[in-house]
Amino acid sequence: MGVAGSVLVINAGSSSLKYQLVQPAGGEVWAEGLVERIGEELSTITHEQGGAETTAELALPDHQAAIECALGYVADGGIDLASAGLAAVGHRVVHGGRSFYAPTLIAPFVISEIDRISTLAPLHNPANLVGIRAAAELLPEVPSVAVFDTAFFHGLPEAAATYAIDRELAAEHAIRRYGFHGTSHEYVSQRAADFLGRGYDDVNQIVLHLGNGASASAISGGRPVDTSMGMTPLEGLVMGTRTGDVDPGLVLHLNRVAGLGVDEIDTLLNKRSGLRGLCGENDFRAVADLIAAGDEHAALAYDVYVHRLRRYIGAYLITLGRVDAITFTAGIGENSAKLRADALRDLQRYGIDVDDDRNLMRSKQARRISTDDSAVAVLVVPTNEELAIARQAVAVVARPDVSGETAP
Ligand code: ADP
Repeated sequence: MGVAGSVLVINAGSSSLKYQLVQPAGGEVWAEGLVERIGEELSTITHEQGGAETTAELALPDHQAAIECALGYVADGGIDLASAGLAAVGHRVVHGGRSFYAPTLIAPFVISEIDRISTLAPLHNPANLVGIRAAAELLPEVPSVAVFDTAFFHGLPEAAATYAIDRELAAEHAIRRYGFHGTSHEYVSQRAADFLGRGYDDVNQIVLHLGNGASASAISGGRPVDTSMGMTPLEGLVMGTRTGDVDPGLVLHLNRVAGLGVDEIDTLLNKRSGLRGLCGENDFRAVADLIAAGDEHAALAYDVYVHRLRRYIGAYLITLGRVDAITFTAGIGENSAKLRADALRDLQRYGIDVDDDRNLMRSKQARRISTDDSAVAVLVVPTNEELAIARQAVAVVARPDVSGETAP
């Protein structure tokens, strides 16, 4: 299959842009890249196409310039996207609020609604919108689809989605638990069921998405029943730079006693906490290097990370009652055998038994790392959010009525 029918997937962050040109049916990746430090004096672009990787530093003042630059690289590699017969541009959008619960064909009212929801995701939705506008300008003939990170968790049971605060205030300000990383949790849980040779509806599973951001979900027969991220991606597991769960009283204390303002607290909790706050490094490999060098702060950071993760695994075992699979995914989950072993250590009495040799084997394929006798299958399933976004985007273009937006 050629480039025709492929999807350009765009994931625009506040100062970064990830893109991938992918064939949704077979998953062939024709080109992909990452632009970082958009808007600074020098941005960097790393682009891969046809087996060759190029890195360059250049001035890219905004996302429009970044997308233009990326498209230029794709064209230099021999693909003119404007005439390639793309099926769609698929945009990752972080927050769909209560309005969007399925991939949605982008139209003007969709843009204004994503904009309105920005109050719930001030770090993310505005950047996503810049990406949407820039791509529409450069590829006006290609339909654009927004795929929401919250969508999969739209149907969370009310008991799991509701914060115990004044209900009228919560309703007025859309305060509830939305969940994030939904595209990954859905893709990985479907792959896990396939791997087990069982119907999606038939499997109860815990998915642990452990990347820079990290989240856990409990999925019962294909329906998410709980997830660790909440109204924002700050809740839940310890992450690279985010706290995960803290006592909300800590925020008041930071303000009243430490004298920090709201924006400073926002930056502290989102960007200077988690592993970075505890030991200075947010990258898991760098933390591991520090531990190997005897750094006690890094050792504690790791222990806090594992402690929180085990707490969620324990909670979800009870939430689900019967668990068929626990699946690790994303950078840390797919690559750190030590973390996987520590997360599930000494749980044989719960039917969870990791096989040390299987766990240590490296592979890019979905695999089982539990013993044959383990009642709960422990799996490693590589996530592929770009492919999942591409597939959802073409499904919407083929059948726009599957869009899940509310009426304008
Ligand atoms: P995101 O997509 O959220 O930016 P990733 O899923 O790529 O993040 O995960 C990034 C994390 O995975 C980093 O903390 C990185 O250190 C970790 N990681 C990548 N490879 C390995 C490895 N071989 N061993 C341990 N951690 C790894």
